[in-house]
Amino acid sequence: MENQLIKCLIIGSGPAGYTAAIYTARAGLSPVLYEGIEPGGQLTTTTDVENFPGYPEGVTGAALMEDLKKQAARFGTDVRFGVITHADFSRRPFQVTVDGRHVLEAETVIVATGASAKYLGLPSEQKYRGMGVSACATCDGFFYRKKDVAVVGGGDTACEEATYLASICNKVYMVIRKDHMRASKAMQHRVMNTPNIEVLFGHVTEQVIGDEQGVTGLLLRDAAGEEKMIDVSGLFLAIGHHPNTEIFKDQLDLDADGYIRTVPGTSKTNIEGVFAAGDVQDPHYRQAITAAGSGCVAALDCERYLLSR
Ligand code: NDP
Repeated sequence: MENQLIKCLIIGSGPAGYTAAIYTARAGLSPVLYEGIEPGGQLTTTTDVENFPGYPEGVTGAALMEDLKKQAARFGTDVRFGVITHADFSRRPFQVTVDGRHVLEAETVIVATGASAKYLGLPSEQKYRGMGVSACATCDGFFYRKKDVAVVGGGDTACEEATYLASICNKVYMVIRKDHMRASKAMQHRVMNTPNIEVLFGHVTEQVIGDEQGVTGLLLRDAAGEEKMIDVSGLFLAIGHHPNTEIFKDQLDLDADGYIRTVPGTSKTNIEGVFAAGDVQDPHYRQAITAAGSGCVAALDCERYLLSR
């Protein structure tokens, strides 16, 4: 076990984690931040980020995360490589295990472990990730202006992404595996009333086609087994996200989809001294800037909690 009692342990290195680190470091809480499986979080899997305020020319996801990391380090955040594999919030101080062997004690914990977009699992999809395959239309849609794209999925997110893309792109195909959508009636209505969206019910994606420039099309198969090719430059997956809450599930209150429940308007979880920030507690907005904002909220809640004891 490490000797040092950590005042504020931050788990996760996306915009939420690093913003929480910047604020808690400046408040003198000497935060320790564990980067997790994917240092830098989901943004490192995207290319250019043009909607994060403060970057008029845009910035790559990787450069933005590097800047946030440097800013957190500048104020003394102890940024460590490692994955939290176990957390025990039943004892105080809290006990947390890193990489299955190294045990730490912390007075407070900010959980910012994020959520991961689900992918279809096709090798061709993996090959073109960041080269036409994306899981975030708000992040990447702009790069497909006036082009044809496809959205896979039939839930509210898929409908939202499709209507957003329809406002930028020439044409949007929605590829839905069933003969109906799961999305709310209002969202379905919006999709059906958008002239440049074509809904392909009962189609599954067999293969992403492309060349060295990126995606050029999709090979689909319908319920009767017939193949169909569509020419698109972009493929947007909208088949759901899964929050990274596995190790907390027996201790923190989670909603039916596994997102951490917080006291509305705060970052407080059901355990005093444990706070949640970013996508791990946000199934709705999932933007870098909203995650950063919630990291700030968690840092302030954490600071006030420590002062009030
Ligand atoms: P959902 O789980 O609701 O929908 C996922 C969609 O992806 C379904 O159509 C599902 O198909 C399809 N899908 C899943 N796996 C595959 C696969 N392997 N291949 C092809 N298709 C697949 O996820 P969402 O992200 O859309 O929504 C999550 C939650 O957030 C929901 O509760 C939603 O209502 C909410 N939300 C609300 C919004 C709003 O109110 N404005 C906006 C966005 C989300 P199938 O139906 O066949 O399982």
